[in-house]
Amino acid sequence: MASAPIIVWFRQDLRMTDNPALCAAVATGRPVIPLYILDQSSDGLRPMGGASLWWLHGSLESMGHHLQNLGAPLTLKKGAAKEVLGQLIAETGADTVYWNRCYEPGAIARDKAIKNTLQNDGLYAKSFNGSLLYEPWEIRTKQDKPYRMFTPFYRMVLSQGTPIQPLPKPKQIIPCDVPPKSDYLDDWSLQPTRPNWAASFPEFWSRGELGAQTLLSDFLNGGVAAYKTERDFPGVAATSRLSPHLHFGDISPRQIWASASTIEPTAGSETFLKEVVWREFGYHLLYYNPAMTTAPLQTKFNAFPWAKNDSHLVAWKTGQTGYPMIDAGMRELWATGTMHNRVRMVVASFLVKHLLIHWREGEAWFWDALVDADLASNSANWQWVSGCGADAAPYFRIFNPITQGERFDADGTYVRRWVPEIAGVSNQYIHKPWDAPKATLLEAGVSLGDTYPRPIVDHKVARKKALAALASIKQAD
Ligand SMILES: Cc1cc2nc3c(=O)[nH]c(=O)nc-3n(C[C@H](O)[C@H](O)[C@H](O)COP(=O)(O)OP(=O)(O)OC[C@H]3O[C@@H](n4cnc5c(N)ncnc54)[C@H](O)[C@@H]3O)c2cc1C
Repeated sequence: MASAPIIVWFRQDLRMTDNPALCAAVATGRPVIPLYILDQSSDGLRPMGGASLWWLHGSLESMGHHLQNLGAPLTLKKGAAKEVLGQLIAETGADTVYWNRCYEPGAIARDKAIKNTLQNDGLYAKSFNGSLLYEPWEIRTKQDKPYRMFTPFYRMVLSQGTPIQPLPKPKQIIPCDVPPKSDYLDDWSLQPTRPNWAASFPEFWSRGELGAQTLLSDFLNGGVAAYKTERDFPGVAATSRLSPHLHFGDISPRQIWASASTIEPTAGSETFLKEVVWREFGYHLLYYNPAMTTAPLQTKFNAFPWAKNDSHLVAWKTGQTGYPMIDAGMRELWATGTMHNRVRMVVASFLVKHLLIHWREGEAWFWDALVDADLASNSANWQWVSGCGADAAPYFRIFNPITQGERFDADGTYVRRWVPEIAGVSNQYIHKPWDAPKATLLEAGVSLGDTYPRPIVDHKVARKKALAALASIKQAD
């Protein structure tokens, strides 16, 4: 009698190489059903945003080809995972489900419930680590507590030695005799059409496993050497751009670590790997503080006097604040689905401190607009910038959008690219066009309040207001 198939349920691990759940299933020698469920409806799960869905389409398409080449087609199903798995098990006679773990609170609750149900039904479920260097519970303080500060967490990660080596890609996958019915990817309409706001995204990204591997190898053979010194300059292509690939699991952090360890170590490669540990830290924080996606880690911020101002929020989202560095960042996000890390910090600080708008509004916009939108990294970073996180930049440290521009985009390359209507303004005024003499603006074809907005708030006034708001919660503390 033919042995029952194993379902490999792909989630944020859309790759063939270093995929522990897939490898374990293939190693049994039994038929494998590769499955992806578009689950936007299980309780407690945060539905993916628009840019994430766009990315997902590309990664699934790519993975579908890889699986086909290895012998087993990808089955696509839509719905709440528990129901879909139940139906698939009934359809195929599968008795085992393998998956790589996800760490969002909603996914943990869903997966635990599924595991229990399967086991109660006499079936077998097993999960693996396919997304992190170390599980959140493997890195603990000497007192066996979770970490709240990055530096000791980082040291503890380094003290573990070399992370487990990545697993090879399976040579072949035995398919089911009769493959289950699958949805058509195009029918899911993951990519926008009317309007196609992602029309320019393909210029910037090559989604899927191959795209990720090419990006990593190009980066390690080139940019990484200058990473430490150039990574903060948004006008220079100095970072890896691997974050969406990491989020969807087109590549694993263990693959990155192992590949980076094969090159001559430099300050650049060390700093790069440290950033990969920042990602781990976000997951660690989220695992131990599941409410941090909506609630401040420092509870005194519950009393913060947030402002409600829809026109300011719209100006921020659309890159019309009148501050060139902020507008460039928000427009880069809209056009490409990403934004340089330095600029993410500056725009986030501007929303929270200059406009006093709740960080959750910014987090939600990033969630929808970023191709790398990630519950752990996004909420940890928003809390960090807002000063209410565990290991946060103090609230009173308020980024000045003018001097940040002058320091990190001194020749205006970045601003000119994304805010072309002020491209003719000289370097001296590119980050503060309102200070330029009238004749200079005229010559540059800029009419403030007409071709480009005047600043929606005054930096000095906004700074004072932010400090007063902070003082009010300090008193209440
Ligand atoms: C307000 C705000 C929101 C953010 N939201 C997200 C998000 O939703 N998803 C996301 O992946 N990153 C987020 N980041 C972190 C960071 O901006 C991006 O990871 C980085 O810009 C991705 O570019 P890269 O791949 O070229 O990074 P590189 O500089 O090449 O770094 C390598 C990898 O390290 C990780 N990394 C780097 N910086 C950070 C960081 N500060 N925190 C966590 N991981 C990091 C990423 O996985 C990245 O791909 C956010 C940062 C801020 C300030």
